[in-house]
Amino acid sequence: MHKSDDCIFCKIVAGEIPSAKVYEDDEVYAFLDLSQVTKGHTLVIPKSHEKNVYELKEETASNLFRAVPKVANAIKASFDPIGLNMLNNNGEAAGQSVFHFHIHLLPRYGKGDGFG
Ligand code: 5GP
Ligand code: ZN
Repeated sequence: MHKSDDCIFCKIVAGEIPSAKVYEDDEVYAFLDLSQVTKGHTLVIPKSHEKNVYELKEETASNLFRAVPKVANAIKASFDPIGLNMLNNNGEAAGQSVFHFHIHLLPRYGKGDGFG
């Protein structure tokens, strides 16, 4: 399990920065994004610090995606959206601003919900 001392998401996993937890298991943590693009906007991250898709280990990817349906269903149960987008940015040019791999889960509520 990798950890980076200057990574915001590693600090969130360690509980050094507070977050609104949506789901947790031994390998994965999910929490509400600080900036809610839509209601229930959630980030799913591996607890292991791996920068982006190019560094993501097979085992880490496998653990992460095993958890994704559980997180999606937790969001569904709490927020009752009518759809959900999953989004992942890799590299600054692609909009990545935190360099600890994460997937955005964006619940959708229909026209005018704030996300294209
Ligand atoms: P990216 O742009 O790298 O794909 O997404 C990073 C996301 O992390 C952004 O949507 C941003 O709002 C979120 N974020 C950055 N810092 C924090 C934080 O301290 N707490 C939480 N909950 N979200 C954060
Ligand atoms: Zn990290």
